[in-house]
Amino acid sequence: MRQPEVRCVEFVEQVTEWLEGGLSDEERLLFEEHLAYCSPCGRFMVQFRQTLALSRVAEDQLRQGPPPMVRAALHTAFRQSRR
Ligand SMILES: [Zn+2]
Repeated sequence: MRQPEVRCVEFVEQVTEWLEGGLSDEERLLFEEHLAYCSPCGRFMVQFRQTLALSRVAEDQLRQGPPPMVRAALHTAFRQSRR
């Protein structure tokens, strides 16, 4: 008996690697099998691809460096990690 919850967590962790072709043949088969029967993960994949497409559109702007809001958040995180 499968444990769908665990497979879904693995699925989300492997999405980036799958898109970049970084999975082994066995991992890729399990991944695509899961995608075929798990509709929540199917929906997640659609959203993930849309997010990727949007981030490619924004890439040119990001070449100038992270937006001010992101930079401020990084600064705060950096300061807190040094405390
Ligand atoms: Zn799933």
